[in-house]
Amino acid sequence: MTIEKLKIYFAHNLEGLYPSEEIESFFFLLVEKHLNFSKVDTVLKKQYEVSERITQQFTEALNRLQHFEPIQYVLGKTEFYGLPFKVTPATLIPRPETEELVDWIIVNCNKNHRALLDIGTGSGCIAIALAKNLPAVKVSAMDISEEALKVASENAIYNKVTVNFSKKDILGTSTLPQKYDVIISNPPYVRNSEKEMMQKNVLDFEPASALFVEDDNPLLFYSKIAKLAKNYLNPNGFLFFEINEYLSKEVIQLLERESFSEIELKQDFFGKDRMIKCTLGE
Ligand code: GLN
Repeated sequence: MTIEKLKIYFAHNLEGLYPSEEIESFFFLLVEKHLNFSKVDTVLKKQYEVSERITQQFTEALNRLQHFEPIQYVLGKTEFYGLPFKVTPATLIPRPETEELVDWIIVNCNKNHRALLDIGTGSGCIAIALAKNLPAVKVSAMDISEEALKVASENAIYNKVTVNFSKKDILGTSTLPQKYDVIISNPPYVRNSEKEMMQKNVLDFEPASALFVEDDNPLLFYSKIAKLAKNYLNPNGFLFFEINEYLSKEVIQLLERESFSEIELKQDFFGKDRMIKCTLGE
């Protein structure tokens, strides 16, 4: 089959399920993955004969997209903070609002900040983007999931950075291996009751353990991490959180109760309360 015919076959099979621009963009991404053709190549080489094996790969991708599996999982990769990342259903797909958090951390880091810790690293996106952009800093990252840590380690190699990964159940621990200058976490924060507002592709495919918390105790990760940070954050160090847009007041109150100061709340690109920075002071 020619690329031109493959494109028609592809679009026909997704018609009505996605907007046509999105279908076209899926097609270009898949051609890039399987044929290593750029968008321009794809347009210019319309008559290129696609092998049986590659046509089969497109049929498999179509099947997954028809079931609304996120394109990032179908491709097995995504981009975060301008860097390539492998993603599997073992990890959350990195979100644009988390890029904004990384940006905020980078602006706030100075030469006195030498050791960083990312708790609940998932794909490793925060830790790796920081390691890449703050080369003088030693970055550590933890996760409860062995599978996620495997993906994160591959991503560190892929991006040629060193991150010290370790497996840790943060809720079940009262110690950390050392003190840090910056502690960061984007923990699970979506309440079960918010599920109905979420897209089917998130609910059906992304790991629930990375997303959801019980309605009666939605800040359990924040409370635990704040308590640990009190003992393991160096003076003048920062604690950064990504937060649930509906729970900013509650997170601030929690941090005040734990004696954190200079608590700053920041909105994301959509104007939603999304991240918090604070310190223990001198
Ligand atoms: N922002 C993510 C979402 O709504 C949730 C991330 C998280 O729970 N840490 O899909």
